[in-house]
Amino acid sequence: EKKSRLSDIRFFRAQYRIALRNCGLINPEDITEYIACDGYFALANVLLHWTPAQVIDTIKKSGLRGRGGAGFPTGRKWELAAAAPGPVKYVVCNADEGDPGAFMDRSILEGDPHSVLEAMTIAGYAIGAREGYIYVRAEYPIAVDRLERAIAQSRQYGLLGRRIFNTDFSFDIDIRLGAGAFVCGEETALLRSATGERGEPRPRPPYPAQCGLWGKPTLLNNVETYANIPVIIREGPDWFASVGTENSRGTKVFSLAGKVLNTGLIEVPIGITLRTVIFDIGGGIPEGRRFKAVQTGGPSGGCIPERYLDTPIDYESLKQLGSMMGSGGMIVLDETDCVVDIAKFYLQFSQDESCGQCTPCRVGTKRMLEILERITQGKGTLEDLDELEELSREVMDASLCGLGQTAPNPVLSTLKYFRQEYEAHIIEKRCPAGVCRALVDY
Ligand code: SF4
Repeated sequence: EKKSRLSDIRFFRAQYRIALRNCGLINPEDITEYIACDGYFALANVLLHWTPAQVIDTIKKSGLRGRGGAGFPTGRKWELAAAAPGPVKYVVCNADEGDPGAFMDRSILEGDPHSVLEAMTIAGYAIGAREGYIYVRAEYPIAVDRLERAIAQSRQYGLLGRRIFNTDFSFDIDIRLGAGAFVCGEETALLRSATGERGEPRPRPPYPAQCGLWGKPTLLNNVETYANIPVIIREGPDWFASVGTENSRGTKVFSLAGKVLNTGLIEVPIGITLRTVIFDIGGGIPEGRRFKAVQTGGPSGGCIPERYLDTPIDYESLKQLGSMMGSGGMIVLDETDCVVDIAKFYLQFSQDESCGQCTPCRVGTKRMLEILERITQGKGTLEDLDELEELSREVMDASLCGLGQTAPNPVLSTLKYFRQEYEAHIIEKRCPAGVCRALVDY
């Protein structure tokens, strides 16, 4: 019992909850519980006392960056949408979370749906929009149900609809269901899909802030980004900016999974090290096995080896290591995991989810997958490794959207940090982790 209490303390001690502040504490199906936790106070304050420019200025000062993966400054995005010509504009929430092992957005929607509704309404006021849409995966039935209840209750309380708080501002929110295509998390594909078109990315520019839903200026942020907004308004931008690092303010939610003792959803100040997350919060590797690597950023990210465990978690540092922050998936691997097999798993995922409209992504990832297949079956050659690197560069350079541009990251990062494992498969016909069946039986 003492051991488990100690593990609980370590799990929570380094965490800092902003986006998840209400999750697990309030009943998400009861608006009065959200209001009792200062919910809708930020919206009231903004509508009654602030100008739209003040709202945007506050978000800019806070230093909040998009939590969907790219890390674009949120205030700047709002400013661009506000400057776009109206009168028809839209606010959209990207809740199409599709990374394997990621459930950050789902938890916020299920645990605190009103924080997203409040933020979207504030965004609508800031940019001059009257309608908002939440694009959410149909595979999240509880999240969809809670959003529907939250929207109905907000309308009932006059917090959505006409003349909110007796002001001239009217705003309402509707839900659009996604059908489980990972590529619809890409903003232009999402906007197309939300209007009933095929969910395929299109070239940018024009960016959604100029040409989004039905060709109108559209502000698009993800669930976690919105969940931060009401607190920033309430507590002030300086308070928010005091958490995190110089270039990346605030916290980030991760779903910590894989070979760690404590798995689950965590929220940590940006800038915390990978070691603290894995060995303090995560409690280390079970059964005394050795840590091998951590995959951040899901299928778009890379595998980071032990020597970089003291790297601070922020957008730039992870990118420098060939990975990325992504939306928050974090999967820990130990010595019994084969990195070639992991790279193959992620590439298979990207290849399955490619929309197929551009050749480098559709065919390039297929060729890469065939090579990885050969290597894990003991039929690879050393020339295959050069071919993998060359194909990776071509797919990254010539793909239209983020899915193709980042799909080779798991392969490139494992080749960079674990080349000897690829060589063991090829030269010694041996899988060092004992995972690749064909080689174990060789
Ligand atoms: Fe579709 Fe891939 Fe091209 Fe993106 S890169 S548009 S997913 S084919």
